[in-house]
Amino acid sequence: MLDLLTALLLSPSPTGFAGPALDVAQAALEALNLGARRTRKGVLVADWPGMASDWPRALTAHVDTLGAMVKEIKGSGRLKLSPLGAFDWHSVEGETCKVMTRQGRVLTGTILPAQASRHVHGREMDDFPRTDETMEVRIDERVTSQAETRALGIDIGDAIVFDSRVHVADSGFVRSRHLDDKAGVACILAAIASLHAQGLQPSQPTRIHISHYEEVGHGAATGLPEDLADLVAVDMAAVGEGQASDEFHVTICAKDSRGPYHADLTDQLIQLAATEGIPHKVDIYPYYGSDGEAYWRAGGDARVALIGPGVDASHHYERTHIEALTATAQLIAAYLVS
Ligand SMILES: [Zn+2]
Repeated sequence: MLDLLTALLLSPSPTGFAGPALDVAQAALEALNLGARRTRKGVLVADWPGMASDWPRALTAHVDTLGAMVKEIKGSGRLKLSPLGAFDWHSVEGETCKVMTRQGRVLTGTILPAQASRHVHGREMDDFPRTDETMEVRIDERVTSQAETRALGIDIGDAIVFDSRVHVADSGFVRSRHLDDKAGVACILAAIASLHAQGLQPSQPTRIHISHYEEVGHGAATGLPEDLADLVAVDMAAVGEGQASDEFHVTICAKDSRGPYHADLTDQLIQLAATEGIPHKVDIYPYYGSDGEAYWRAGGDARVALIGPGVDASHHYERTHIEALTATAQLIAAYLVS
């Protein structure tokens, strides 16, 4: 699971440019002979036959992450940005990044406020806002004009990838950007691989659905079967002040800011975690939406629940622990065979 998670975290995949991470997930599914394929939209899906077939299920998680696009090339040759997904510019200030051009060139740089040097701007910097207007990318090239930057092949609409800086500590903590939701993808793939290795089959036909537009709200709007009965979304749990979730449990989410999840399926998962002795919490996320709701809002007619590992400092430089990942993978495996 950790190897796969690391490979996913190192694969660029801002929303709209998630191809490299989808390739990693597809290779993992193909290694299990699950017939992985892409829909027209590009969602990665695979179908695992079940022992019975009266209650078709699906698991979904998303590989797309926060990122940005080149909005404008400034007269200085630096790049103005348009955000992909919802985050605060403070959370990426000073972060290193890559610019992926349409021609396939990759250039490195740093995300900085236009006033970055204390020695130049002094106390003026104290109140300098961090907005779409004031943040820029300083590319690691000798450019001082718009024309010089354009000559490198950089253009409006190019993807900006935030470096994930993944680190697995001996203590079991994994810190990285984009654990949301590559941790969820790794948990699903690990659970499947584990059942597969034991020669087990899910109790019901199960679609594995890896989406790539979750951060903009429509990842799981398509790509799920018409006759679906249960959808379990696997996505990060919100850790912080007032939250029950932590980095050592799987959380079953009762409600987020878009409303409650399906009460019966939520109860079933809480009961299953309790019966199997899986470390778990139940929680509510105050500023959060998931692909489960994207499916419902697109007209999906199945029971929907949300589970996932606790992630600290979400949409910032995130962290979780191997215990939360393990508990999440265990609950997924228990659900598949239940
Ligand atoms: Zn997410």
